[in-house]
Amino acid sequence: MLVVKNLAKILGGRQILHNINFCLKKGEIIALLGPNGAGKTTLMRCLVGFYDLDEGSVSLDDKTMADGRDEFLKNMAYVPEVGGIYPEMSVFEYLAFMAKLKNVDAKSFANNLKYLVSALELESVINQKCETLSKGYKKRTALAGAMMSYPKFLILDEPTEGLDPKQKQHLREFLKSYGKNNIVLISTHIMEEVEALADRVLMIKNGRLICDTTPDDMKKVSAQNSIENSFCTMMDV
Ligand code: ADP
Ligand code: MG
Repeated sequence: MLVVKNLAKILGGRQILHNINFCLKKGEIIALLGPNGAGKTTLMRCLVGFYDLDEGSVSLDDKTMADGRDEFLKNMAYVPEVGGIYPEMSVFEYLAFMAKLKNVDAKSFANNLKYLVSALELESVINQKCETLSKGYKKRTALAGAMMSYPKFLILDEPTEGLDPKQKQHLREFLKSYGKNNIVLISTHIMEEVEALADRVLMIKNGRLICDTTPDDMKKVSAQNSIENSFCTMMDV
């Protein structure tokens, strides 16, 4: 279980996140929603130790960063909205590099590589340099790299942005399956994705958590039972 208590973050002298509290359970796929600038990326970066917290705590299965940074981070993976991969490495080199970085032993690397390359359909580009990949392949390579350690907590910032409809569907199915035994937190602006994928919705506005609900309950906010309309009503946009 991931527990976030009283989290606050200041950047550039401005308070970006205010008193954030929530718990995420194994087997949940959670959509983090909010308008641009709400603080979604900042929150994700706080969860994975990219930023130190100004207040509050993050714990995963009762362990915090204070219990040992490497151990704490081993169970988490974060895939940023863009980048995350090294342009000059081939896909294979990048995946091997990520496995090393996460202390994945040789046997697990061989197994994980086989599974992830097949599940994320990277076979045809395995020896290609990352800089020459299309956007869809870049995103899936970054995801495969992040997943080399089979993290209990997977955090994805706008994972299907820029993918074609078939790639979107494929990635959603993959995440749905991974989310059965882990915690998957995604940020997205695509309401259809929330309905297709998420068990739970967290909404942030101006750096504050304003709602913790389910897609079905969220829909009830609009007279038309539309998640898109509910989002606009709740965000007042
Ligand atoms: P979202 O991902 O929801 O679009 P962000 O977390 O990227 O929002 O940004 C939240 C707010 O924090 C924005 O107002 C943004 O300008 C500000 N912000 C983000 N990063 C920094 C930074 N490094 N320094 C100062 N302000 C930042
Ligand atoms: Mg963002």
